[in-house]
Amino acid sequence: MIEVLNPANGQKVGDAPAMSVSEVNAAIDRTCAAFPAWSRELAKERSERLRRWFERIRDDKAAFAELIVKENGKCLSEAYAEVDYGLGFIEWYAEEAKRVYGDTIPSHAADSAITVVKEPVGPTAAITPWNFPFMMITRKIATALAAGCTMIIKPAEETPLTAYKLLEAAREVGIPEGVFEMVTGDPKAIGARFTSDTRIRKLSFTGSTAVGRLLASASGQTLTRMTLELGGNAPFIIFGDADLQAALDGAVGAKLRNSGQVCISPNRFYVHASIHDAFVERLAERVSRVAVGDGMRDDAAVGPMINRAGFDKVASLVDAARRDGARVVLGGKPHALGGLFYEPTIVTDLDDDAEMAQTEIFGPVFPIYRFETEDEVIERANATEYGLVAYAYTRDLGRGFRLSRALEAGMVILNSGSVGTASVPFGGIKQSGYGREGSYYGIEEYVDVKYVLMSGL
Ligand code: ADP
Repeated sequence: MIEVLNPANGQKVGDAPAMSVSEVNAAIDRTCAAFPAWSRELAKERSERLRRWFERIRDDKAAFAELIVKENGKCLSEAYAEVDYGLGFIEWYAEEAKRVYGDTIPSHAADSAITVVKEPVGPTAAITPWNFPFMMITRKIATALAAGCTMIIKPAEETPLTAYKLLEAAREVGIPEGVFEMVTGDPKAIGARFTSDTRIRKLSFTGSTAVGRLLASASGQTLTRMTLELGGNAPFIIFGDADLQAALDGAVGAKLRNSGQVCISPNRFYVHASIHDAFVERLAERVSRVAVGDGMRDDAAVGPMINRAGFDKVASLVDAARRDGARVVLGGKPHALGGLFYEPTIVTDLDDDAEMAQTEIFGPVFPIYRFETEDEVIERANATEYGLVAYAYTRDLGRGFRLSRALEAGMVILNSGSVGTASVPFGGIKQSGYGREGSYYGIEEYVDVKYVLMSGL
């Protein structure tokens, strides 16, 4: 069995099965066997089942939110927000299922007609991370099922219980075996099965760039198409003309969400020299009041790191910055609560070659860099192998427009710290991966385009 521990106190929350190869193979067989019937169902029928799943979970939000807190460590209010966010994908794709349209193209010959239809790609697979145990799963499976694909999911070992609870709710509303399958066990072995089986026509992966590269390279052998949502190194730029209060709210909200363990978490704050010191002072005042603790505690806003490796990474990045001469304005050490809790931390006077400038921190750390000009900050913001999201605060419309073009990212967010919702295309460029999830673009990843020529008319 895989033991699931509560990161806030180390206590056991439950178990998930460590499946054998033959159990995994049987689940893949069921996923493939279910495809013909599921893909032939009327879109309206698939839509209705997704809608019932949405309603079933909506009626049971508290149970899901509390389980998310227990296995992931995030705060209860954020767990509720995640359930709403994740439910948004099921609702959205229940609606989109009915709107997978094709095309007609004016013909090149007098006696023929050309149509283009969209067909589900086939049985699909997904591998998901622990930072959004609920939303990461609904975002993938709702899209796949709406398009007419079946899907087998391997959730993260840290958070499989929320995943199994989602599966249980799906079964209750008549989403059958095979259409939605779940496996847990050795990630390497399961990943290898997903990428080597030519019956699986697509793999959607969210996780680290290192594992994404491994899976993409294995998928090269079978030409399995992929959606890859990988690491990030988001710049968060605050210009001198910004609404400082709004920038502060956006920075704190975006950074402390899930205690900084989010791929779109701001990883480098660039603050214009004219407001740098004032911003740091206000940020420190604000962040010093943030309560750290078990996510089930009413006032807690920052929870524990997911595991020892995550905690050690954060601590070592801060220690390295301090050794290199950076100034730790706030925090900078393990929290007095002990365990996996790390203090919300603000670090200034960093160089662009600091280790934390090029590493996804995944913790409650605000690294602040000073800048002078627009051109300079664009160049520095883009000086990363990643390209998931970029944030900027400015009240200059022209500058905002220039930034939206110049910043190398799949998503540019101006004057807000909030990115995701079901109706937008989420995803990155460069080493942050490819493909989009959410919105009507998301469904395109699960359909093949078929050109039909009818001649001799
Ligand atoms: P994180 O740092 O968020 O844990 P990972 O990329 O290690 O990022 O994990 C994301 C998902 O990828 C998890 O479900 C994990 O089990 C899975 N995973 C890790 N290593 C492999 C692998 N070699 N092949 C397939 N999946 C893997």
